[in-house]
Amino acid sequence: MELSDFGKKFTERSGILELMDDLSQALQGSEKKYMLGGGNPAHIPEVEGVFRKRMEEILHTPGALEAMLGNYDSATANASFAEALASLLKDQFGWPIGPENIAVTNGSQTAFFLLFNIFGGRTGGKVRGKVRKIVFPLCPEYIGYADQGIDPDQFVCFPSRIEEVGNGLFKYRVDFSRLEIPDDAGALCVSRPTNPTGNVLTDGEVRELVRIASQRGIPLFLDNAYGLPFPRIIFEDVHPYWDENVVFSMSLSKLGLPSVRTGILIARKEIVRAVSAANAIANLANGGIGQILVTPLIRNGEILRISEEYIYPFYKRRSSQTIQWIHEAFPRHLEYRIHKSEGAIFLWIWFKNLRITTKELYEKLKQRHVIVVPGEYFFFGLQEPWEHRTQCIRLNYSGPVDDLKRGIEIIAEVAGAHTR
Ligand code: PLP
Repeated sequence: MELSDFGKKFTERSGILELMDDLSQALQGSEKKYMLGGGNPAHIPEVEGVFRKRMEEILHTPGALEAMLGNYDSATANASFAEALASLLKDQFGWPIGPENIAVTNGSQTAFFLLFNIFGGRTGGKVRGKVRKIVFPLCPEYIGYADQGIDPDQFVCFPSRIEEVGNGLFKYRVDFSRLEIPDDAGALCVSRPTNPTGNVLTDGEVRELVRIASQRGIPLFLDNAYGLPFPRIIFEDVHPYWDENVVFSMSLSKLGLPSVRTGILIARKEIVRAVSAANAIANLANGGIGQILVTPLIRNGEILRISEEYIYPFYKRRSSQTIQWIHEAFPRHLEYRIHKSEGAIFLWIWFKNLRITTKELYEKLKQRHVIVVPGEYFFFGLQEPWEHRTQCIRLNYSGPVDDLKRGIEIIAEVAGAHTR
């Protein structure tokens, strides 16, 4: 089969595909598995109860189910959903937006694919014949971005500065002293809270990135899949930011609805139109189920209540508990540090003295039926080698507690046996 460059790039073994295949294979077989990999959010009964009730309401309202399932929705956004969300964001944050500033896609993963290739890639404009770059100022960054550029070398990532903050914790900071935005940059992009590390950029860091992007006349993509106002898996007292130069992304996934595939962009009208046009070509229309399910919950503020009363406390408590289990289980000679848990559903552990790479550690853990994600995947687009790349793993802490606790004990044993 003869493939185009696009065909080759998107069918060869990408990091994310390799990882997804490996994770699903690792989960096969009858032995008990300890699943600390993947990005599934927790099943929180109180939250699931709200979605169940809402679904029952749809089922019992004449014509509602039929309208939800039987009509193509728009490629931009469901009108009632966009109206309700714009009004909620205006009330919450005072942002000067209306429904025309909202673009929905089938998951925020799709939104980023469109954005990266609208603003990055081969161009005939000002930087004729060049590949416009998407710049990630805080590496490590979300693995799901890594292979999304259609052109090769479309992504440039800058290593973050590591700051030890005491109590066995560290924090990544944007290293502004080394952040040199190339002339051919098309956009900046950060996830806040960050997958995989649980880092939350400070308001000051965001302001500085906004300044840099505006000065260059390029947008800043702020990926808020875990942030405010929902699902509110953010433990720091920081403020969301939007202006016309920012593309602010949200998702229904981490609320507990990954399967409805609903991603949301808040952007200036011109960008909304561009994303929706590309979305219509690639997807025809958006799935309407997620938007229809949550619209009344946005209107009556229930989405904020479940985020505040159930989702935030669940993850906050679980994160502290997991850190405590790690400190109890891990031997001192491991010389490990945990990234300060400021949000998202992951803990990021740095093993300073490991004798093997974290990909090798991942293989050894797999043999003991513990699944984690090796850190190497999150260091894409680096211009120079960085030893730190092979020293970190990501744990998802939202699964069943007994599995989490036992998984941590096994990691302690296996990593302990391969430490200098
Ligand atoms: N952005 C970040 C930072 C994520 O962690 C994820 C999923 O884990 C996504 C985007 C994609 O989410 P979805 O496509 O489910 O909205």
